[in-house]
Amino acid sequence: MPLLDFKVDFDLEMAVAQVYGQPMVFHCHHYNTFLQQTIEDPSYVDSTAILTDAAAEVAFEQMTEYYLAHPEVVAPQQRLAIAAEMFKTCGFGTVDLAQLGDQGGTAVAPHSHYALGWTSKFGPRETPGCYFVAGYIAGALAAAYGRPLDMYRSTETSCAAAGADCCNFSVEVK
Ligand SMILES: [Zn+2]
Repeated sequence: MPLLDFKVDFDLEMAVAQVYGQPMVFHCHHYNTFLQQTIEDPSYVDSTAILTDAAAEVAFEQMTEYYLAHPEVVAPQQRLAIAAEMFKTCGFGTVDLAQLGDQGGTAVAPHSHYALGWTSKFGPRETPGCYFVAGYIAGALAAAYGRPLDMYRSTETSCAAAGADCCNFSVEVK
């Protein structure tokens, strides 16, 4: 298992913490799931795209900067293992990206902050709810292979917040 070099750059004047170029705010599940529900509620916006695309962009930009700072991390599977460590270190739970390849594949999140947070705050959902995780997977995969940000579509096929044992994701080239 490769070691993650987790660096927080804190700007005292601006009071902003950045991790590999991405501003990070450490919120609890109350904030994160309530924000998600607020974005999901209006039927006139494509909330799935908003939530997954934003997560994909952050993961892509952050991990791309990480790999630039760590040129010794070259192999895609090593890069994906580092991305999973970043995910865990940031408090989003655990995610296994080892079954992903250049053409996509599957990923699993045995412990998802969003699934566990949602059920503890609101109870079970009828549909999968880990949009952030789905987007993170797509962005991390694109960064690991040096592909464009919008290369992959990642969909949660079953979710612990909707009664599954854990959260499963399917990833394909768009
Ligand atoms: Zn889920």
